[in-house]
Amino acid sequence: QAKAAGRRTFVRYDDSMDVANRRRAQLSGALHKVLDRGELRLVFQPRLSLAAQRITGVEALLRWTSEEYGEIPPNLFIPLAEESGLILGIGEWVLREACRTLRQWHDAGMTSLNVAVNVSVVQLLRGDFSEIVRRVLADTGLPPHALELEVTESVLMANAEQAAAKLQALREMGVSLAIDDFGTGYSSLAYLKRLPITTLKIDKTFITDLNRDPDDTAITTTVITMAHSLGLTVVAEGVESETQMRFLDHFRCDEIQGHWLSRPVPPADCLAFIRAWVPGTTSGAAGNVVPDA
Ligand code: C2E
Ligand code: MG
Ligand code: MG
Ligand code: MG
Repeated sequence: QAKAAGRRTFVRYDDSMDVANRRRAQLSGALHKVLDRGELRLVFQPRLSLAAQRITGVEALLRWTSEEYGEIPPNLFIPLAEESGLILGIGEWVLREACRTLRQWHDAGMTSLNVAVNVSVVQLLRGDFSEIVRRVLADTGLPPHALELEVTESVLMANAEQAAAKLQALREMGVSLAIDDFGTGYSSLAYLKRLPITTLKIDKTFITDLNRDPDDTAITTTVITMAHSLGLTVVAEGVESETQMRFLDHFRCDEIQGHWLSRPVPPADCLAFIRAWVPGTTSGAAGNVVPDA
């Protein structure tokens, strides 16, 4: 009987592997059609300078509503798009759409706003990535200094030498460069110093437990000090409360991003939020009442 039970367990395990693989294959299949079907859209989340009490810009975040499978989170489909190479076309679409939207906002008078776009290492390491960026900026008319490209720390570390050269070319164009999810990838100070980056984004896992977990508090204050000593702008992501905001302000974190200010929302809502935002207000009420897009 034990043998039978064991066998049943094994079979069930096998089945669930099949289900997971089948689901991945189905999603990958659907992912091939996203651009043709127009199933992608961008949402935007504002970033606040604490010292200047000014919205400095926005991060563009990708959303996919599949005809067959509904809303699929980026943490699920971005890795699939990277494996299949589809990220190249999708990433270029994101870049173009983000720059086009910001150019519209500039034309509407909001010329000081920047846009941050997440870039996959698959895009970055491809031969002509800086050429694609150059072309998108030329086509959309967005000035290079209004664009920031975010690359996650872990992938940079895994491809250090190649990545450094790629980033250099982009930096020379005048584009800003951020390391995303900082604190999760064990970068050394010496390594950071060699990269032509402008911005560090502290990963939200450290922000969540600020004030409660002494380790996270120590990491956050250390990263802020270190970033400033290297002349970098430091951004905290995932700021959800006024307490976290005040802590970060006290330790001279330059900018914050998170639900406390605003959730990621569709472009028109984001622009309306930025226009209506009043310096010194303690909560981005407009952002907080909009459900996560
Ligand atoms: P990320 O670049 O670190 O983006 C921040 C994530 O934190 C976003 O998740 C955002 O919605 C979420 N977030 C913002 N504020 C808060 C907060 O206060 N609390 C919490 N708990 N979360 C908050 P999202 O949109 O699901 O994106 C997840 C990840 O997917 C991104 O992390 C990024 O790595 C990737 N991603 C999203 N869009 C793109 C894209 O266009 N291209 C590439 N290559 N990756 C993308
Ligand atoms: Mg990001
Ligand atoms: Mg991040
Ligand atoms: Mg992340």
